[in-house]
Amino acid sequence: MKKTFIEDIAQRLRIIPNLDREHSSSESVDLRKYPDPENWHDHIELDANEWPKRVERRYSLVPTTCFNCESACGMLAYVDKESGQVAKFEGNPHHPGSRGRNCAKGPATINQINDTERILYPMKRVGKRGEGGWQRIYWDQALDEIAAKIRASLKTEAKDRVVYHVGRPGNEGYVERVLKAWGVDGHNSHTNICSAGARTGYSLWHKHDRPSPDHSNAKVILLTSSHLETGHYFNPHAQRILEGMMDGAKLIVIDPRLSNTASMADHWLPTWPGSESALFLAWAKMILERDLYDRDFVENWVNWEDWLEADYPDEPSTFERFIELLLEEYAEYTPEFAAAECRIPVEQVIEAGEAVANAGSRLSTHVWRSAAIGNLGGWQVARTLHLLNVLTGSVGTEGGTSPNSWSKFSPELFDEPPAPDGWNELHFPLEYTLSHYEMSHILPHLVKDGRGTMDVYFTRVFNPVWTYPDGFSWIGMLEDEESVGCHVALTPTWNETAFFADYVLPMGHASERHDINSYATSAGKWVAFRQPVLREYARREGREVEFTREVNPGEVWEEDEFWNELSWRIDDGTMGIREHFMSPYREGERITVDEYYQYTFERVPGLPEAAAAEGLDALGYMRKHGAFLIEEATYSKHEQEGWPTPSGKQELYSPTMVEFGYPEHAIPHYRIRSHVHPDNLQGEDEYCLLPNFRLPQHIHSRSANSKWLVEIGHRNPIWIHPKDSAKLGVAEGDLLKIETEIGWFVDKVWVTEGIKPGVVGCSHHIGRWRRAQDQGNRFLSNEVSIEDIGDGKKRMRTVSGVGPWESDDPDTNRVWWRDGGVHQNITHAVQPDPISGAHCWLQKVRLSRPSADEKYGDVEVDTEKSFEYYKRWNQMAKQRETHPRGERRPLWMKRPLSPKKEHWFIPE
Ligand code: SF4
Repeated sequence: MKKTFIEDIAQRLRIIPNLDREHSSSESVDLRKYPDPENWHDHIELDANEWPKRVERRYSLVPTTCFNCESACGMLAYVDKESGQVAKFEGNPHHPGSRGRNCAKGPATINQINDTERILYPMKRVGKRGEGGWQRIYWDQALDEIAAKIRASLKTEAKDRVVYHVGRPGNEGYVERVLKAWGVDGHNSHTNICSAGARTGYSLWHKHDRPSPDHSNAKVILLTSSHLETGHYFNPHAQRILEGMMDGAKLIVIDPRLSNTASMADHWLPTWPGSESALFLAWAKMILERDLYDRDFVENWVNWEDWLEADYPDEPSTFERFIELLLEEYAEYTPEFAAAECRIPVEQVIEAGEAVANAGSRLSTHVWRSAAIGNLGGWQVARTLHLLNVLTGSVGTEGGTSPNSWSKFSPELFDEPPAPDGWNELHFPLEYTLSHYEMSHILPHLVKDGRGTMDVYFTRVFNPVWTYPDGFSWIGMLEDEESVGCHVALTPTWNETAFFADYVLPMGHASERHDINSYATSAGKWVAFRQPVLREYARREGREVEFTREVNPGEVWEEDEFWNELSWRIDDGTMGIREHFMSPYREGERITVDEYYQYTFERVPGLPEAAAAEGLDALGYMRKHGAFLIEEATYSKHEQEGWPTPSGKQELYSPTMVEFGYPEHAIPHYRIRSHVHPDNLQGEDEYCLLPNFRLPQHIHSRSANSKWLVEIGHRNPIWIHPKDSAKLGVAEGDLLKIETEIGWFVDKVWVTEGIKPGVVGCSHHIGRWRRAQDQGNRFLSNEVSIEDIGDGKKRMRTVSGVGPWESDDPDTNRVWWRDGGVHQNITHAVQPDPISGAHCWLQKVRLSRPSADEKYGDVEVDTEKSFEYYKRWNQMAKQRETHPRGERRPLWMKRPLSPKKEHWFIPE
């Protein structure tokens, strides 16, 4: 039926739901607007650059996935048939997660592959590590030399001295399999500067450690994220949030900063950082008091009886008594208490709380980074947020929030080597009993503390010198050849960490590599194929390719084939490694990358049948379409599978917390005050620095070579509320000195009401640098000098900002911006949460006017102070270290690359 004029206006104003959309058809795309896959190898388009002439261009459209964040959105590479090169990237409408849409970072892949400063050949250092001297070598030399070092390490029987440290992951088990074949407990990740806090909170409830909100079908969307794009799933979530809102959903955003998402919200709650749990518990109390909880779900799927048995053995074990006792337990969490902690009006607590309390089973919630990775005790933000889903019965429902693993496909691999026969205490030190991931951000301090060293250290698309806190401590570790025997940087671009490597090995961007992807971006389950598009183009044209590097620019390769080749060369025939790299199809021969994916895709439920219907095999289908929808929706799986916790239920009461020495956290509470709680700040002079957000068009450190993205955003000023700028006597553009616990930096002021008074903000991805002897990233990096000024103190100063330069790309000579920002992260102290192990990003800072010789971009850090500061935080974990039954950590808790079970216990 046609809409009336009034309905049209009302719909636009979001007074009524969207009448144009069928509710349940939100996952579909109108494919008539897109080229038909049957014609993808011969697609004709008019060349826009030739307008007004009508000049036709012929393309082969090859699907792949974006590599610029975890979402792995679908892209179509337009391979120009005349040049044989990629001309542009568009969205792949057949990808179930992104449905044809990308954020700015997807199409900007074309900048990355055409970057005139990219690394095209394997490089080996000349001179001392970090001095900046490099020579080009061939892959054979790199492989042989690195293989020899790994072989020597493995022959010592050490299981923890060959390490792979991943920044951007996304190959679903490939490398874990390789590390197992080598027999090392050598997986390290960036997770505990990212999502480990929230993961701990979720896993305490139900082992699954991430949420998957069904935004499109929600009634209320509750986001506790430092803006969508700061986390992954930016584009897939953003499009579904908009659909939910068009259907009448209310959007609630909790963030001390007015993010773009907050600016679109029905309720923006600028809570004081770290107070979020107080707010959620007040809302939980509202739900309980008003009898708005889902009795059926809570009574049947929550381990409330365990709590009563443990804490109230003399009370009747009835559900009614449980609710009364829970209300008594949460009596302190009144709206007034929450308002005082959050420093927001009580009316706002009640108004938004009523929306949440009445959402029923359609409450979609999400927390990514932000508070959960910002604060001491940040893990309880996720735990108390999930409590709202549990009480409203919106766990696993349509429009609710499901565990992410329900929507994530786990590939079946052709060969599973045995679990590592050892435990890496540099990654999982004994005192961090509940750390959900590797303690990667204190690695340099653990090494400095004499707790281990590494023979061969791979950094994979990983730039801790720049992205991590306390980067000078990373430089110190990497420069010391006793600490790191050999550092191999696998990276598509130069970065601050690669400057301190022994080998820099060029790896492909999105369209230059193989990976398998599957992420919980919506209620469905899908699998996607990142493929080297020129290799697939060659195949379509009837040309044979043995290795992906044959079609990539220069000698850029990909990790998959690199690991296979390296593994083969490590084994001298006596080590049992080669047996894990044999073809499952050709007896006695080495596996190829095509066979690896063929084996996996043949085992994706429903894929071989869908392929056969088109006269293809499973690999052929994925090469052609790039993605496959395995399940439309994955709701209510617990009804068949239960919950994978010790009790088999959602654990409101955590026996694990009690056993591992934290009985005060047996149930969700607000008992830890953040290190940046107002009580912990020294009067009016100390502020909370919010550094863990970023601009939508940037990646942590791989967008500095993308001219389009950099042109949009290239500064990171200090956000400061007008009240605070008046107090400090600074105006827009003035310089401010920001002092952390271990150093200081000088930045420019941006006065804005978009930040809470008492909090200052600085975005996370700007302030890239290179020294005179370094190369790369000139669109966004300042040239700096680094000086050792004695007693462990380091000083960085900007020598020159960004400027134009001559190259094969005329755009490099048109660079008009000069400001490359300030490297703030390097002045941050490491602050490992004693429970989750996550880095607590928020920093206590003092603000002042810089002196005359302190200039914009100046940075100073005292590395001795940073080590002492680390020790203070480390002590918090040591003081509470408890190992029931000799367990290093809970046996039921997940661990990447889990070693053999006996190593989960401390040796006698
Ligand atoms: S959200 Fe953007 S950066 Fe992330 S995968 Fe999608 S297109 Fe790429």
